[in-house]
Amino acid sequence: MKGPARELEELTEAGLLRSLRPLESGAGPKVIREGRELWNFASNDYLGLAAHPALGEAFIEGVRRYGAGAAASRLVCGTLPPHRELEEALAAAKGSEAALSFPSGFATAAGSLPALAGKDDFLILDKLCHASLIDGARLSGATIRVFPHNDLAKLEKLLESIRNKDAKARVIVVTESVFSMDGDLCPLREIVEAKDRHGALLFLDEAHAFGVLGPYGMGLAEALGLQDLVDFQMGTLSKAAGLSGGYLATTNAWRDLLVNRARSFIYTTAPPPALAHAALASLRIIRSEEGAELRLKLRENIEVISPGHPSAIVPVICGSSEAAMGAARELEEAGFMVPAIRYPTVPRGRARLRVSLSAAHQGDVVRDLAGLLEEGVNHG
Ligand SMILES: *Cc1c(COP(=O)(O)O)cnc(C)c1O
Repeated sequence: MKGPARELEELTEAGLLRSLRPLESGAGPKVIREGRELWNFASNDYLGLAAHPALGEAFIEGVRRYGAGAAASRLVCGTLPPHRELEEALAAAKGSEAALSFPSGFATAAGSLPALAGKDDFLILDKLCHASLIDGARLSGATIRVFPHNDLAKLEKLLESIRNKDAKARVIVVTESVFSMDGDLCPLREIVEAKDRHGALLFLDEAHAFGVLGPYGMGLAEALGLQDLVDFQMGTLSKAAGLSGGYLATTNAWRDLLVNRARSFIYTTAPPPALAHAALASLRIIRSEEGAELRLKLRENIEVISPGHPSAIVPVICGSSEAAMGAARELEEAGFMVPAIRYPTVPRGRARLRVSLSAAHQGDVVRDLAGLLEEGVNHG
């Protein structure tokens, strides 16, 4: 029997071994790792809310009011006032009838897709969908079809061929508004039109768009005025919202079905009520004037690294794993933490640096990083 040491050796030989590199500081625009201060261009804290004093205060107030833990699953006796308030606020913000919160974005995707689709149904995924969506799709037992990234013609063909064979099946198109490794957007308007033409539903993961896109930061669907036409608006409270947790906004009936069927909702303890209380505060900030100003600051920082880029995630393609790892090491020596992303997270030969920008970054620091990246590009 092959033990773990052999497998770890194989990963090491392939240059794919990953290991944890703990920080000695809290999360923030500047962190300490192995005794060194580094500017943090690795986090998903797009608005700098993770360290926002008002969220910390809301957390503490939540603990004072409701205690530290929820003590039970949501269905047993774990649905406390802040859980309900958060879901009502999310539904209102998303322009939907209802919303359901989950312990994480991963749990939202992995638990809701199997609740929404079963063996007689079809899930059509973009090739670059996040691992949580892929795992949820696999767990569902539905027939899975995959279309090349953002390829509308292929999506249309898949919808047509499924409908030709089965006029009645439940068909759900699953995609993301901002793709996590490329930072590009899906053609949402065209996807909405395609799914409507074929009587299909749309499940949109707004993980990297929530807080970042749209006049009130509610995501790409809000930015394009399409919230009413997206059947399942998923997102996370772990990225721009600065906390942790996930949500799905949809109709009352779908939400009730999720409460009955989503195993990652049913068979887990409710998130701490104080977390939900803090999430309410985060949602308020995201939707406020302050939130709009933070999005403007973030936009300025994105422009410095990559003019016109649509999201806070900017990939810098290096090619081989070694090239990406080498570039990340050089940046670290210069005082910047920028992660190298390798296979299997991205395809072989497409290893990259992944620059994540935040409203919390100071303009001069972003300009210094832009300078270093430019030099690297010229040398390569
Ligand atoms: C990060 C992410 C998730 C998972 O969210 P968590 O709250 O971190 O579990 C799901 N989908 C996408 C596209 C993501 O980027």
